[in-house]
Amino acid sequence: MPRLRREGDGASPVSTQTLHGCANVASVSATKRIAVIPGDGIGKEVIPQAVRVIEAAGADLALTYFDWGADRYLADKVTVPPDGFASLARDFDAILVGAFGDPRVPSNIHAREILLGMRCQMDLYANVRPVRLLNASLCPLKGIEPRDLDFVVIRENTEGVYGDLGGVFKQGTPDEIAIQEDVNTRKGVARIISYAFDYCASNKKVDGSPRRRVLMCDKSNAMTHAGSLWQRVFKEVAAEYSNPKIETQHMYVDALCMQMVRDPRGFDVIVTNNMFGDILTDLAAGLQGGLGMAASANLHPGRTSERCRGMFEPVHGSAPAIAGKDIANPFGAILTAAMMLAHLGMLAEAQKIEAAVLEAVRQKKTTADIGGTLGTREAGEWVAERVRLSNSPRL
Ligand code: ATP
Repeated sequence: MPRLRREGDGASPVSTQTLHGCANVASVSATKRIAVIPGDGIGKEVIPQAVRVIEAAGADLALTYFDWGADRYLADKVTVPPDGFASLARDFDAILVGAFGDPRVPSNIHAREILLGMRCQMDLYANVRPVRLLNASLCPLKGIEPRDLDFVVIRENTEGVYGDLGGVFKQGTPDEIAIQEDVNTRKGVARIISYAFDYCASNKKVDGSPRRRVLMCDKSNAMTHAGSLWQRVFKEVAAEYSNPKIETQHMYVDALCMQMVRDPRGFDVIVTNNMFGDILTDLAAGLQGGLGMAASANLHPGRTSERCRGMFEPVHGSAPAIAGKDIANPFGAILTAAMMLAHLGMLAEAQKIEAAVLEAVRQKKTTADIGGTLGTREAGEWVAERVRLSNSPRL
């Protein structure tokens, strides 16, 4: 059984809990420190299930909880405490996040400052969103099998329209003008495209076959200036990748949406800008069984100057419409936690968790959105128990 320790009840972080898989081998230096920020809405329901499951896997972790989110903002108007991001980068190996967004904060300022703050101020420029089908029954398309759907969307995470640059003039008049700027820097475009090629070269598909193709998605026929930069940089970076040879492909975002729905077989690695990545991965989540099934990592590939290796969050938001009802699917958050463990080098633990989620889907031990009858908590408990069983030595 994992050993639990709770300490501290300060304002931020709120508490610390250590999980040691095996007390006699776990050295203090091997323990990974995780900042856990459940956030708002269903984030507060799915993250406890993800924690339950990583605890069952015996991962050697020390968890520190942060209360950043709408409740805290409404109580004291603090979104991120001073030194908040610096502390995350300096003191933790990874961050596990739920979701942000609450109807009581219509401006969503806390969500912007916390989530976009982490992505931008910590320069987590690569948002890695795997799209995998665990069971054919989850895909709304006819005849699509798990082997047909195993691609990854690599979304630029720090630029585009998310900088909130622009303005509104003559507001409220018939002559009102709203301008929203789309920021694309050569450095930003080059590093995300390079990472997509690196990812393609070094990450196999689940069935063990190599990844072979990077598809760059834009709307360069309409957004000509930004599109031209993406097109030119894509060609330049592709030319550097002759060994192994990686195929290249380009699609406009509208055509890509249609193709994903008509026939998603054959996609491998897709690289795109911040907004198209956001939209495409909601569509792709639909192919996997819905938003409750999709996981993601926010990374700064290759950086070693900071302790923190990345921020991990399910693709879904806080989903206020279903929050507090114990019906949210926790599997996206659980698979996100598995991604985090894999990224921290705990591959065996990550694989146990993925196998348990797969079995839950096969046996329909799931929430109603994907065909089961369990609540959020029961679904998390089932997966945790399955992970615990897989820890036992076979007789
Ligand atoms: P965003 O934060 O992206 O603006 P949101 O908080 O409004 O979005 P999402 O979280 O994206 O909403 O979810 C939209 C809808 O998808 C939800 O209302 C719900 O029906 C469904 N959904 C999202 N996440 C889950 C989940 N984990 N389990 C079940 N259904 C979900």
